Amino acid sequence: MSNGKSIIVDTSRCTGCRGCQVACKQWNGLPASPTTQTGTYQNPPDFNGCTYKVVRFADGRGADGKPYWYFTSDMCRHCVEPPCLAGSSVEGGMIHDEATGAVVYTAKSKDDDFETAQSVCPYNVPRKNEETGAMVKCTMCIDRISNGMVPACVQACPTGAMVFGDRDEILAEVQRRVTELKKTHPKAQAVDADSVRVIFIVTDDPARYHSHLKA
Ligand code: SF4
Ligand code: SF4
Repeated sequence: MSNGKSIIVDTSRCTGCRGCQVACKQWNGLPASPTTQTGTYQNPPDFNGCTYKVVRFADGRGADGKPYWYFTSDMCRHCVEPPCLAGSSVEGGMIHDEATGAVVYTAKSKDDDFETAQSVCPYNVPRKNEETGAMVKCTMCIDRISNGMVPACVQACPTGAMVFGDRDEILAEVQRRVTELKKTHPKAQAVDADSVRVIFIVTDDPARYHSHLKA
């Protein structure tokens, strides 16, 4: 595997506009998901068979009593050594693209073990398309990036929160941004940068951004 590509999701620059979420729907030709107003900004509530990217709204109160409200543009992390792929038993159901490092599920994944894929993914990403039975998730826009374009979500982001590029350059940019952020946010850090291609930069305890993973 070459060093391939990577993406930054810099939560310090995210405004929660959901442009990335909509761009993902548009590029992949995915329908909207009917939802119910539950008293939060979270919409839709989670990934599903026609939603590969969701902007998560996490709020709460810290030990100091101060409220927090964080936005995270959530998606498959395109793990460097993908646990979902290691657990796959159907040839051609999941592909690890040599040039980019993107992890892509195909129509053949309908014959693979969905429960296994879901249980081994550290980020609770794989979902099933109810119509086709295939497993689905973000593809890193493999069709776009193989033709010299950036992923649709990155293209849509108006604030520089999302950046796409060669992994070595992205890792250097992550380092630069975290160093800068630490001056004002001592807890700033990159999450799992060594093991994933989609690297989140957070300004606080990562658990505050990932409350959906506790369930
Ligand atoms: Fe697979 Fe989950 Fe890693 Fe994505 S985040 S490559 S679905 S294990
Ligand atoms: Fe955040 Fe950019 Fe997505 Fe808007 S488009 S929600 S600023 S990551």
